[in-house]
Amino acid sequence: MSNKPIFTSETKCSFCVGSKCCTYMTQKIETPRTKYDFEHLLWQLAHENVQCYQDTDGWYLMFRSRCIHLKKSGGCKIYKTRPQICRDYDNDYCEYDESPEKNFKKFFDGYDSLHKYCKKRFKKWKR
Ligand code: SF4
Ligand code: SF4
Repeated sequence: MSNKPIFTSETKCSFCVGSKCCTYMTQKIETPRTKYDFEHLLWQLAHENVQCYQDTDGWYLMFRSRCIHLKKSGGCKIYKTRPQICRDYDNDYCEYDESPEKNFKKFFDGYDSLHKYCKKRFKKWKR
């Protein structure tokens, strides 16, 4: 007989290889509008593992960076004392079910994609 748990909302996270939601963090930013704003955003995306997206709530920076408390095998090392935001996170419909990028209005996976967008958006973008 298999010891594998039955898939329920309580056991779902144990099926999620690498605990996807613990491998990045996001920060809301002001909606970029001007050339100056996009110059600044470009500088931010010039850094490794920094991405940017727009969804229905606005614009966000995304840092692809594993949480230091994430076990190599997945799961949280500080589960009992994990931050409130982790406690509040609902696994009802999460990254396990669908990649969030699919629902972004805009997604810039790095400097090059944002640079291309800037050149298209601002006719006088010279660099
Ligand atoms: S909440 Fe979703 S993405 Fe996060 S560990 Fe659980 S199943 Fe994976
Ligand atoms: S503290 Fe634990 S639950 Fe929260 S992001 Fe880190 S590993 Fe995940």
